[in-house]
Amino acid sequence: MHEAPTCKRCGAPDSAVVETYGEVLHGHYGSTRFDGTSLIWVSDDHDDLVDCDVICDACTEVLIERGKAEIYHAAFAAPAPANLSKEAYRRLFLLGANTMHQEILMFRGFASAGALLTPDDPDAVEDLRRTLCRKDPTGPGTKQMPAEGETGSLAIEVGRSHATAALLLATQPDPAIDYTKPAEIFAEQMIESDKFWDEAIDILTAK
Ligand SMILES: [Zn+2]
Repeated sequence: MHEAPTCKRCGAPDSAVVETYGEVLHGHYGSTRFDGTSLIWVSDDHDDLVDCDVICDACTEVLIERGKAEIYHAAFAAPAPANLSKEAYRRLFLLGANTMHQEILMFRGFASAGALLTPDDPDAVEDLRRTLCRKDPTGPGTKQMPAEGETGSLAIEVGRSHATAALLLATQPDPAIDYTKPAEIFAEQMIESDKFWDEAIDILTAK
């Protein structure tokens, strides 16, 4: 059986399941308090912890109590606070902006190198679209169930992201890109996705 590593902070054995990763920390399976939970650093005073260090639940609690880190997303273990601090909002915005900036430059780099790109390359546009709209349920391996009653507005969001991706990748924005084909592909993929989740829920509720 896989054992959790020793906590970097307090040295407790087989306890460390909250991992530092750049600006954020993520709790993993094995944590009773932070599984599926993400935190943002709200202080730079954590020099003893570097990338990919792991700490225990108790040490993570201390970081929160001392105002060093703040929960901004929780999948199941504990609800994220409804409102965050000004510093958390500032840092999360910055994280989103910097990450997206790098990702778009990367996609454009592929494009200028001729490896990918142009709105004529449906794969490049779809890949960038899923980077822009992370709730897009159609990607290979991105099996995320849309929230109930949200699939219609989600389809609009995916369409908006598709056009954004197409225009970002175009060296000369074409005022008349035709989105009929990607719309058909998206609709087919959504039907598959809906079917997948219906069946998954049937299996879960059948026993
Ligand atoms: Zn610890």
